[in-house]
Amino acid sequence: MAVETGNVRVATTGSPQGIAVLGATGSIGVSTLDVLANHPDRFRVIALAAHHSVDRLLAQCLQFRPRYAVLAAPEAAAVFAARTRELLPELTVLTGEEGLATVASLPEVDQVMAAIVGAAGLRSTLAAVRAGKRVLLANKESLVMAGRLFMEEVRTHGAEILPVDSEHNAVFQCLPSGAGHLTEKGIRRILLTASGGPFRTWSMEALAEVTPEQAIAHPNWVMGRKISVDSATMMNKGLEVIEACWLFDAPPERVEVLIHPQSVVHSMVEYEDRSVLAQLGNPDMRTPIAHALAWPERIESGVASLDFWSMKALHFEPVDRSRFPCLDLAYQALRRGGTAPAVMNAANEIAVQAFLERQIRFTDIVRTVETTLTTVPIQSADNLSNIFEADTAARDCATDWIQHNFLQQ
Ligand code: NAD
Ligand code: MG
Repeated sequence: MAVETGNVRVATTGSPQGIAVLGATGSIGVSTLDVLANHPDRFRVIALAAHHSVDRLLAQCLQFRPRYAVLAAPEAAAVFAARTRELLPELTVLTGEEGLATVASLPEVDQVMAAIVGAAGLRSTLAAVRAGKRVLLANKESLVMAGRLFMEEVRTHGAEILPVDSEHNAVFQCLPSGAGHLTEKGIRRILLTASGGPFRTWSMEALAEVTPEQAIAHPNWVMGRKISVDSATMMNKGLEVIEACWLFDAPPERVEVLIHPQSVVHSMVEYEDRSVLAQLGNPDMRTPIAHALAWPERIESGVASLDFWSMKALHFEPVDRSRFPCLDLAYQALRRGGTAPAVMNAANEIAVQAFLERQIRFTDIVRTVETTLTTVPIQSADNLSNIFEADTAARDCATDWIQHNFLQQ
C-alpha cells in the first residue's frame, strides 16, 4: 500500500508482500534474497525453489524461514525433506514441475521471481502467470519459446510482468506509463546495449580456441554459467531482442543492438522527436531486481552509487555480425515465427552444455544452432504441446549432430 503526499509516495504499514523465488540458489535468486533480506517489513519469503542444491537451499531456508521449499529433482527433495524434518518442522517440501507450479500459484504469494535458467523455467513461469501473479521475469527463455502464448495468458489472467533482465528493466523505466502501441507513444526505436562479452575484440581464429573458463569470466557481470556463455557468443542479446519484442509489443525492426563495453547504460528508448532516454547504473542485478520488487515505488537495493568521476568514458560501437552470428540467427528465428525461436533456444542450450563439457569448440555453438534450425520442421506456436515437441525435436537433433560430428571416431 502507498499513499500520495504531495509528490512523494510513502509506503504505509500494510502486510508484507508474499514472495516465491524460483531459482533461489542461482545468481539472480541469491541477488533477490540479498535485496529481500534488507526489507523484512515489506516482503515475506513464502517459497524457495531450486533444482538439486540441497545445502544451499537449506542455508537459505534457515535464514528466510519460508513455508515451502521445492527441489525439482526428486532424489534431492527426498534428502532435503529428511534433513529438514526436525530442523524445520513447519516447512513443506515439494518436488518436480508440480511442486514448482504449486508454489508459483499459492494464494499467499503476491510476487513470483521467475529465475530458473532455460526452458526448464517455462511451465512454472506460466503457472505464475495463470494464477494472475506479479511475475518478476528473469527467465527470458520462456518468452523466447512461447512469447505469443505467454503474453496472451498474461492478458487473460490479469498477470503483471515486470522485467528483471537489466536491458528490459531499463527500457521499462524509459517508457511512458500506460497502455498503447509504441507508435502511439511516439517511440521510434528500442536500443538494447550489449557489453560485447569477454571476446568482443577477438579474431575468429582466437574464438575457435576459447575455453569454458574464459567464456564464463564476464568482464562486467557475475552470472550463471549458461547466460555467461550466451553473453560471450552474443546469443544472449539475440534472446533479449526476442524478449523485448514480446514484452513491449515491438516489431523486430524497432529493436536494435549496440555494443557498450562499460555496461553503465543499460538500454535506451528513442522517441519521434529524437530524444533518447537511457537508464544508467552500476552493473549489478540488485538494481533491476529491487526496481521490479517495489514498482512503482523505489527501495534501497544495496548497490553503490555510480561514480561519475572514476568513469573515464562511455563507448558505443556496432556489433560485428560476422564474428558474432548468433544475433542475426535470433532475428531470423523471430521473423520466421512459430516454433523457430523455441528450436533455436533448445539447440543453444544443448550446444552450450556440450561446449562447457569440452565436447565442441566455442565456434561450434552457432553451427549446432544453425544446423538444428535448418533441420527441425517449424510449426505454429499457438499451443504448449507444439512448443515442447519442437523443444524436444531440437534437443535430439542438436545432440545427434554433435554426436555425429564431434564424439565419434
Ligand atoms: P544460474 O545458473 O545461476 O541459476 C539457475 C537457477 O535455476 C538455480 O537456482 C537452479 O537450481 C535453478 N534450476 C536450474 N534447472 C532447474 C530445473 N530443472 N528445475 C528447477 N530449478 C532449476 O542462472 P542465473 O544466471 O541466475 O539465470 C537465471 C535466469 O535469469 C536465466 O534465464 C537468465 O537468462 C536470466 N538472467 C540472468 C541474469 C544474471 O545476471 N545472472 C541477468 C539477466 C537475466
Ligand atoms: Mg540482460
